[in-house]
Amino acid sequence: MSAQKIPYKIYLDEKELPTAWYNLRADMKSKPAPLLNPATHAPMSAEELAPVFCEELIRQELDDTTPYFEIPEEIRSFYKMYRPSPLVRAYCLEEKLGTPAEIYYKFEGNNTSGSHKLNSAIAQAYYAKKQGLTGVTTETGAGQWGTALSMACSYFGLDCKVFMVKCSYEQKPFRREVMRTYGASVTPSPSTETEVGKKILAEHPGTSGSLGCAISEAVEKAVTNPGYRYVLGSVLNQVLLHQSVIGLETKAALDKYGVKADLIIGCAGGGSNLGGLISPFMGEKLRGEADYRFIAVEPASCPSFTRGVYAYDYCDTGMVCPLAKMYTLGSDFIPSANHAGGLRYHGMSSTLSKLYDDGLMEAVSVRQTEVFEAAEYFARVEGILPAPESAHAIRVAIDEALRCKETGEKKTIVFGLTGTGYFDMVAYEKFHNGEMSDYIPTDEELAHYAARLPKID
Ligand SMILES: *Cc1c(COP(=O)(O)O)cnc(C)c1O
Repeated sequence: MSAQKIPYKIYLDEKELPTAWYNLRADMKSKPAPLLNPATHAPMSAEELAPVFCEELIRQELDDTTPYFEIPEEIRSFYKMYRPSPLVRAYCLEEKLGTPAEIYYKFEGNNTSGSHKLNSAIAQAYYAKKQGLTGVTTETGAGQWGTALSMACSYFGLDCKVFMVKCSYEQKPFRREVMRTYGASVTPSPSTETEVGKKILAEHPGTSGSLGCAISEAVEKAVTNPGYRYVLGSVLNQVLLHQSVIGLETKAALDKYGVKADLIIGCAGGGSNLGGLISPFMGEKLRGEADYRFIAVEPASCPSFTRGVYAYDYCDTGMVCPLAKMYTLGSDFIPSANHAGGLRYHGMSSTLSKLYDDGLMEAVSVRQTEVFEAAEYFARVEGILPAPESAHAIRVAIDEALRCKETGEKKTIVFGLTGTGYFDMVAYEKFHNGEMSDYIPTDEELAHYAARLPKID
């Protein structure tokens, strides 16, 4: 093997693009807890979910026994425009750090939306179109999901209605215009277009909005408009399923060169990129075929895994969505202004929560300034300007590589580089000007929100 030097970028052939998504839940002996009806606390049935979500996506959501779902040809054709994505051997970073560790990263920023979210957006748009729907609604905070969904909807000729948290709408005009370029309509939330929006505006005039509020508006818009459904870019099982394409490609690329990963690292907001990246590797671990260490990285300002509670909670502030059992900080917890918008969700994927609770995976939290130090270091050494979210994984990959330098261990580290940071330059500016804060919630604050979790027996 040593004769064959591993290239800087391992590209898979188009023919090696996965033909099926892998459903990790099929290999879990103890399954993630089911979604519950917020009114009755009984498990949600497909019929109950049907007014909100697309039929085929509900089927994927509720299926925890089928290991593989074929990727429809139409989706594979779209994937081929930007996939397989490269797995990069970070030779330059290894050399700069002086580590004996081998470092690889799977780069998902090679598409216009700039992140991995497009992998699920295109699948969700496809199933909505196949069902004969007119359009979909969603919310977006930082804007990555809204951008990805706009691209996917324009490809399939679907109407796309995005409720964008008002402060982002005003602060991120470029993301907004990318969405409009792809034909989406973008409404600042809260708005007067929905009853829930009007109510919030009446109670809090001048509010700059929140993700939870935008979700409530998007759900209302979907259920009150015939031919529309609501779609979500993270947290749900169906999203992890679609994102398994990241892990399947990573595994195929490593296998091609006979490389065995020791440590797999990813940032965790709602858990979709991490869940997708680790899926096939975790599958091997669950089946007893191989062992790996998995590390979820989250911001210290929004520490769902490391300081949250494993309990049933609402997925949104408006409490209209089903209850999910997950590591959560409470649905009305609002994290301090952190520049990694994609990591500010109060909860976590129920699948990853279960794996974490069963001790199959680890989690660490990192402070914002140390994340940006890693982001800038990485940009200068490896060339790619990372999204602040992705830089959480970079931080821990670098820390682990430096640990190897101390111990002399030659570990193989793989991490997910979820996206690029071109729309996050205000955050980089704050970092450069020394104006970035590292707020970490106190135990008292977290206990306050934990005490407000719904009581489910
Ligand atoms: C949304 C986002 C994340 C976090 O979402 P997950 O569902 O946890 O993957 C991470 N990185 C980028 C670039 C994002 O846009």
